[in-house]
Amino acid sequence: MMRSLLTTCALVAVAAATACDSGDGFDDAAATIDAIDLARGIQDLAADSMGGRAPASWGEERTVRYLQEKFEALGLEPGNGIGWVQEVPLVSLTPDPDMGAVIQGRGTVNRLQHAADFVAVTERVVEEISLDRSRLVFAGYGIVAPEFDWNDYEGVNVAGKTVVVLVNDPGYATGDDALFNGRSMTYYGRWTYKYEEAARQGADGVLIVHQAGPAGYPWAVVEAGWSGPQFMLAEKGNSPLTRVQGWLTEETARTVFAQARLDFDARAAQAATRDFDPYEMDLDLSLTLKNSIERSNSRNVLALLPGSERPEELVIYTAHWDHLGTDSSVGPDSIYNGALDNASGTSGLVEMAGAFAALRKAPARSVLFMAVAAEEQGLLGTAHYASHPVYPLDATVATVNMDGLNIWGPTSDLTVVGYGMSELDDVLRVAAEGAGRTLAPDPEPEKGSYFRSDHFEFAKRGVPSLYPDAGVQDLEHGEEWARERREEYTRDHYHKPSDEYDPSWNLEGAVQDLRLLFAVGHALSTGDLWPNWREGTEFKALRDEMMGYETAPAAEAE
Ligand SMILES: [Zn+2]
Repeated sequence: MMRSLLTTCALVAVAAATACDSGDGFDDAAATIDAIDLARGIQDLAADSMGGRAPASWGEERTVRYLQEKFEALGLEPGNGIGWVQEVPLVSLTPDPDMGAVIQGRGTVNRLQHAADFVAVTERVVEEISLDRSRLVFAGYGIVAPEFDWNDYEGVNVAGKTVVVLVNDPGYATGDDALFNGRSMTYYGRWTYKYEEAARQGADGVLIVHQAGPAGYPWAVVEAGWSGPQFMLAEKGNSPLTRVQGWLTEETARTVFAQARLDFDARAAQAATRDFDPYEMDLDLSLTLKNSIERSNSRNVLALLPGSERPEELVIYTAHWDHLGTDSSVGPDSIYNGALDNASGTSGLVEMAGAFAALRKAPARSVLFMAVAAEEQGLLGTAHYASHPVYPLDATVATVNMDGLNIWGPTSDLTVVGYGMSELDDVLRVAAEGAGRTLAPDPEPEKGSYFRSDHFEFAKRGVPSLYPDAGVQDLEHGEEWARERREEYTRDHYHKPSDEYDPSWNLEGAVQDLRLLFAVGHALSTGDLWPNWREGTEFKALRDEMMGYETAPAAEAE
């Protein structure tokens, strides 16, 4: 059983690198992470004078300069050759809301109202783009997942057509643990995936049917998100793009299915079974989008601690520095300070860099600290890095992401979003046990949080990525209190100007979490582990291919 041997070695190595002093001053270095410094960094980054840190704003100028000075003072090296930044060219397309869509066929014409019935955007940087009588094809969940033996596009050619697909995945819809990941959302359930797959299939258009339960948010979120400026990367590499991407309200979808003389509920239920085959709906969609186009630049800040033995191998910590900027239309407090989201993670990143810099000997592998841009616009800074990696992805051992630290106090547990997906859990678990703590899965896996922060741009390209979150077993106040605090934050402060630093925050929990994550990165960078995705996860095949693992260790063990 080669695999279990590897795992045992891994655990011994981690234990050696965390529980015992590894001879490089690990304990002293971990102790440099402290609540006072962390708080000061949060206050600096979340100050009104940073203007809410919008991409390509004067707030960005100040934020980038601040971070560069911090990393420089720690004695780190510029992470992008001779430079501290990686430019992230952005473009924003603002669609004219005065767009109509017409669905015709079966002797009727159905005119749809923008925002009330549907939303539509394009990722192609053009002033005008149309669908002209594009055939509608119902493609079920729009999923091609070989590891689940599932193909919603089998036997249908969608070139030039528009696919209508359901949100989330069949596992969520049926609650059947044998389908996909049961109620936990897989990447196949995310809207980003639906768009990507439709493009790979050559479709001209894709419309997702919104349903609040499986989507995890109401139509208002879709309406707001798909209206106004749509930021995207100016260069998108070679990935195919549909012409038009949008959503239909559930009610509109029902009228469209009725127009096609199909029963929506019956067809949706069938789409969650293995008997489903895609079919043409005998309807055509026509739609014209007009965009105003603006170009800008944002920047990722990269700081490197070069490895002492195998500098070409790399562990990456990420935290997004950006937030939502300033909007004078929202009231007297117009600055989105983003103190928790994500001045806290960014200040944590600086603390982490300080801990590594305090080691008496640099780890064998390099460690890259990356404060990334434009996360709030759709993970754009990391998407740009991952498609233009400064260090090859097959030499990147793992990434650890920090997006919102614990501001409520020490806990006995640590939440792991995407728990069970990769062997990084094992490394973290050993570190946690060493600190007398436990790991807990994300309490709401059906919301697909794993696919909604920066680590994911690495994950979807195959690089194992860890996304920890604050625990809920509060040592002083208990679990219920901790859950209430988190809900209160989400309700009252999340993505609002009131996400401000508060001196009553207890950052001892964040310090505790950062020290654990330091132990993880320390174990990975001083050792020679290559943690992988677990069998059956949607990213494993990519990593295996990238690393040349065709003869998988698991096969040898049989
Ligand atoms: Zn965030």
